[in-house]
Amino acid sequence: MFIPNLTNCDKEPIHIPGKIQSHGFLIALDQKYKVAYSSENISEYIPLTAAEILNKHVSVIESYLERGGGDEPFLVQLIKLGYSAKGFEPVNPYVLSIKGKIFNLIINKSATYYLLEFEPEISDLRADLQREVGRSLAEMLTDKSLSQLLNKTAEQIKGIIGYDRVMIYKFHEDGHGEVVAEAKNEGLDSLYGLHYPATDIPKQARELYKINLIRLIADVNAEPSAIATVADHNANPLDLTHSVLRAVSPIHIQYLKNMDVASSFSISLINQGELWGLVACHNYSPRFINYRERESAKLVGQVLSSALSFRQNEEDQQVSNKLKAAIDAITRNLLRSNDINEALCCSEVTIQDAVDSEGAALLFDNHVTLAGNTPDETFIKELAVWLEQNMEGDIYQTNQLPNVFPAAAEIKDTASGILVCRISRELNEYIIWFKPEVVATINWAGKPEKPTVFDENGMAHISPRTSFELWSQQVNNISTPWTPQDLRSAVQLRDEVNYAISRRANELRKLNEKLREAYDELDAFSYTISHDLKNPLTTIKSYSQLLNTKFELEPKAKYMVERILSGAQKMQEMIQEVLNYSKVGQAKIESRPIEMSKMLIDLKHDLLIASENENLTINIGETPPIQGDEIMVFQVFSNLMSNAVKYSKKSDNPVVNIKGEHTSTHVEYAISDNGIGIKPHEVHKIFDLFNRSDEVKDYEGSGVGLAIVKKIMEKHQGRIWLESNYGEGSTFFVSFQRFDTV
Ligand code: ADP
Repeated sequence: MFIPNLTNCDKEPIHIPGKIQSHGFLIALDQKYKVAYSSENISEYIPLTAAEILNKHVSVIESYLERGGGDEPFLVQLIKLGYSAKGFEPVNPYVLSIKGKIFNLIINKSATYYLLEFEPEISDLRADLQREVGRSLAEMLTDKSLSQLLNKTAEQIKGIIGYDRVMIYKFHEDGHGEVVAEAKNEGLDSLYGLHYPATDIPKQARELYKINLIRLIADVNAEPSAIATVADHNANPLDLTHSVLRAVSPIHIQYLKNMDVASSFSISLINQGELWGLVACHNYSPRFINYRERESAKLVGQVLSSALSFRQNEEDQQVSNKLKAAIDAITRNLLRSNDINEALCCSEVTIQDAVDSEGAALLFDNHVTLAGNTPDETFIKELAVWLEQNMEGDIYQTNQLPNVFPAAAEIKDTASGILVCRISRELNEYIIWFKPEVVATINWAGKPEKPTVFDENGMAHISPRTSFELWSQQVNNISTPWTPQDLRSAVQLRDEVNYAISRRANELRKLNEKLREAYDELDAFSYTISHDLKNPLTTIKSYSQLLNTKFELEPKAKYMVERILSGAQKMQEMIQEVLNYSKVGQAKIESRPIEMSKMLIDLKHDLLIASENENLTINIGETPPIQGDEIMVFQVFSNLMSNAVKYSKKSDNPVVNIKGEHTSTHVEYAISDNGIGIKPHEVHKIFDLFNRSDEVKDYEGSGVGLAIVKKIMEKHQGRIWLESNYGEGSTFFVSFQRFDTV
């Protein structure tokens, strides 16, 4: 036998209780119409015991069932009729008399058995039930507001079944229930607005409520009647899911008794396939309601369910349309603008509107952009770090952030709820929506916990709640929940953003490609032009020289010719530099390992000979080999070392150091000097063609050397950078890929 205790309360098989309520009796027939099960109390209704009819053909009881029509066997025919109609609804209830009292026979299927339940027809309610129901439905559906609809339904059902109290009980997302409408007799305390813990209605009961929409407990004090069966069926308890007489769990009976309820009736309210709530009806004295009354109340409940679904659909549709319009507007912005931050956050419609929220943040491209009511940037960055460590999928939502991320407690009035869409895991990029805290006081009907009692063996048992005294609870750190529509909309927006990002990346790639082509063309152009300019320039120079030497020019003319000559000379030099520069662009790399120490020692030697300062020291440290084009690498070191010497020549003791080292992927050289240094604001342009700083007027040069060095480094997929202190010296670094990684 099943004993509900702490661990199995949720597993109590309430659909196979082995008992029925005793205001009626039950038999179950097998496929051959033999009695497989019978409730023990059958003998109180007909002069046969359960044992006497078990295993007998159902016809044994027919003579005790009086009905208007002839004497022929009718039970089998009724079953066959239901069978051919694919359900017993057209048959139910079948009215008959037993010992002069009117009974309703209700037939249902239970696995391979036919359930035949006989229950009294007695009713003190009005006869014109049908008209009453029609009027109720018309009345219920006249009003627009949800709370009026619920209250009217409660009133109408109270009118149909005549119970002391009818409540509409709505399930919240966490499974707990709230009384959202009530119709009651005067003099009873109102239970409106009270909350009941989820444990009051266990999970399996909710599942059952979705299948069988109504249940009646006619009298909590009536002793249930056991169901007897023959040995063949013993192992198979009869499934009473569809029974109208099913006995309920003793825990539930005790629960009702603790509330002083004598009879209880409830109707399931289903919204989009899920249990939305219940119409819960209580009577404080035993009160049976017959089949037709129950069915009428069920009909009213079903109409309410449809009205709820309809409303819900309508509301959902409105919200969906609003969110969709926002997504459409944002998508248009993304198409128009190249700036994703701007498209998402700076137009009339922003990401905030794509989800039902108070504010939103976009963490993208190393920027935090905010829209609406949000925490500040510092907090959002902290939150991003937390998300990086804790967010598993690509979407995350909570409506109680301070409970999972305590730092959020301080900004709970903007961020008690967050909905997060990840744009990129590597870059830690997100869209985050925020909702404020909704402080609420929940009035519980008794403290929401299941008391445990211990039996004489010390075994823990769940006992139903005994206290329903008002217990108020203040709820903090919680926002309204995110809806499935919010989630759908967030994912849709994320897809649009990803699409825009990849489109932008493609465009950038194309632009880069074009830029490279343009550079190549420019190189080719400057090479040609400088080459072609050489000849006319030589002509200018030669004729100017002839003029100067072969003719007796008056002093003014002579001066002019000399100016032409020096200008042409300068121009020739510049053309040569441009030619050198573009040659590098045009040249093909012939890469091979280069023994560096010899190259550097030769360079040092030449520089020392040419040096204008005899105190010059050049130190060469480690010289790891480099993979590259020897002529170009020579140009790099020759330029950097001669610059180092040149710009330190006015120091008392110029010192130039060159040393190289291996990193895991590169060979890095540093060339340092203790010369004039470079002003910080000049650093970024010293690699530009023809750029020379103001300080170096007294130093000869053209401003092309470093531009060439940079170009060579780029061609080698290497890098060049520098550190410099103005007035103290500079260090230039060059880094080449290592052999093994090239
Ligand atoms: P330049 O022919 O003028 O030396 P570069 O292209 O080699 O041309 O250098 C560009 C500019 O960078 C120089 O004019 C100078 O202002 C600065 N520069 C380069 N190397 C050094 C250095 N070692 N110390 C100080 N300034 C330097």
